[in-house]
Amino acid sequence: MCHAWHMSTNHGAPRAAEGPVVLVVEDEQAIALAVSRRLTAEGMRVHAVADGQAGVDAANRLRPDLVILDVMLPGIDGLEVCRRIQAERPVPVLMLTARDDETDMLVGLGVGADDYMTKPFSMRELVARSKAILRRAERAREAAAQESAAATDLAPIEVGDVLIDRAQRRVSRAGKDAHLTPTEFDLLVALASSPKTVLTRERLLAEVWDWVDASGTRTVDSHVKALRRKLGADLIRTVHGVGYAFEPPSSE
Ligand code: CA
Repeated sequence: MCHAWHMSTNHGAPRAAEGPVVLVVEDEQAIALAVSRRLTAEGMRVHAVADGQAGVDAANRLRPDLVILDVMLPGIDGLEVCRRIQAERPVPVLMLTARDDETDMLVGLGVGADDYMTKPFSMRELVARSKAILRRAERAREAAAQESAAATDLAPIEVGDVLIDRAQRRVSRAGKDAHLTPTEFDLLVALASSPKTVLTRERLLAEVWDWVDASGTRTVDSHVKALRRKLGADLIRTVHGVGYAFEPPSSE
């Protein structure tokens, strides 16, 4: 068995030299090829590998702008690949799952993926979601650049024992630093900017993920789960059927 096949689908794509770098980690060759071809046609520089270890290695080497990651992989599974990649350097991850209940399981674990798609998925949807993730990452980079240029314009947010330094994009609770992914950070800022206010999943999706449809509400749940894991379960209140509210316990 060979799990180290690579594909080169960049030839002839004129914009590829500047396009975003996308790493595809998928052992089903037909899917890997279809995804690679489609994203290459969109001007992205696509690299595909077929097993988990190759995915971790390629992520460290290529420093991709987006990782499209299958969950069921030979060797190290997608979950562990996601953890190892994120531990090295935060990067947006779009997870491919085999079933909806697998997505639920991953959401429950609060893994650091930015989005999930259940197979079979349409290539159009994959392109749309990939572009949304890349747009958001680009905006975050621009915002970070502007913020560091004019750091004083951005007052830190302090609610209860939570301190959010928007200029440095750092978060601490009771003086202890928390390490958030860029998306988790943006979600926290969106919630904490309106404390004690219920924000709907749809509004959070629009604000943080730049989506206009409500098909990705599980994504919000997954990130809230991650924030609770990293910052404490008592920070964000679930309002069932509606959304979430940022309500840290009073420090008095
Ligand atoms: Ca697979």
